[in-house]
Amino acid sequence: MSPSNGALYCRLCGRRYDLGNIRCLCRCGSFLDIDFHYTLDIKKTEDRKPSLWRYREAIPVLQDKNIISFQEGWTPLIPISFTDRPIWFKQDQLFPSGSFKDRGATVLISKAVELGVKQVIEDSSGNAGAAIAGYCARAGIGCHIFIPAQTGAPKVNQIVSYGARVTQIPGNRENASRAALKEARNVYFASHVWNPFFIQGTKTFAFEVCEQLGWTSPDLVVLPVGNGTLLLGAYLGFQELMEKGIITKMPRLVAVQPENCAPIYHTFKQERTDLVSIRAKKTVAEGLAISRPLRARQIIEAIQKTRGDVIVVGEDEIKKSLAQMLKKGFYIETSSAVAVAGINKILHRVNRNERVVSTFTGHGLKGI
Ligand SMILES: *Cc1c(COP(=O)(O)O)cnc(C)c1O
Ligand SMILES: [Zn+2]
Repeated sequence: MSPSNGALYCRLCGRRYDLGNIRCLCRCGSFLDIDFHYTLDIKKTEDRKPSLWRYREAIPVLQDKNIISFQEGWTPLIPISFTDRPIWFKQDQLFPSGSFKDRGATVLISKAVELGVKQVIEDSSGNAGAAIAGYCARAGIGCHIFIPAQTGAPKVNQIVSYGARVTQIPGNRENASRAALKEARNVYFASHVWNPFFIQGTKTFAFEVCEQLGWTSPDLVVLPVGNGTLLLGAYLGFQELMEKGIITKMPRLVAVQPENCAPIYHTFKQERTDLVSIRAKKTVAEGLAISRPLRARQIIEAIQKTRGDVIVVGEDEIKKSLAQMLKKGFYIETSSAVAVAGINKILHRVNRNERVVSTFTGHGLKGI
């Protein structure tokens, strides 16, 4: 891949920057996305190691020597029986740091190394911070994570154990974001939401699912949505496979949010393009307590374009769905049960011969 075949671009003002530019915010203040082109030869990728890096050509890191990896990814896709049919679940709780966020972190931190970055900051409700801290440890670069003061002890311990500096910010998740954004004027912003290289990693979710289904696409993909980094990555991945003619059908994307914090749901149902303000309440799904997702407009566009849907689930439904999975032997964290609750809620309206895929986003050892 040559550096000239890609660019960072802004959806808001149209500015473009070289892919090797160290900035992660546009001059207009908005976030950036990545425009780059590649060819993917699935005959070649099939013979590679079972890691998300088998789709090497699809990932905008120029030189292999910069890759920071634990040979992560290629997680099992296994059927779990629900009332009347099996649902396929990616086992993304099995990633090295215990959540799907490693998909994005391996790509983002590899790019940071490529850019010569020695120090990063990130804000997180826990898992993204843990993933970034883990990959920084492997890369030998400095890491500073801003987290809300109420973040669960297992996640805080994990970040600190990797050697990262942690700053706990009082108040809600947004306060932590604001603090990090301010700091990002001086330090590389390894944000899973702002930094577009993260989504270049989460898109491998779609590649793996399709390859594991014999290079066909599922009919329905049900995902929990907070900041939407998994959903946006999945959308991008399926879209790229469509463009290349590797799959022939776009799956419908269904986002699930906790009723107590459901900004995407309200915006979608009111058919608005700008984010509706909500009064968020506390939820057991701490990974999904995001009341103002930065990329809301993009998330809604992805759901609309795939003729998908957004649904909400109550706190009791989340707890019951968690218990249901634990009883089957799947030790997942509470936020992961949100997708399960969503499936329980909509399954009766899904045609029995449609293939439904979901994922376990985080490990139970993170706290349940
Ligand atoms: C981050 C996270 C989510 C939500 O992902 P977004 O990218 O914020 O939509 C869901 N579950 C777990 C366990 C997470 O860590
Ligand atoms: Zn701009």
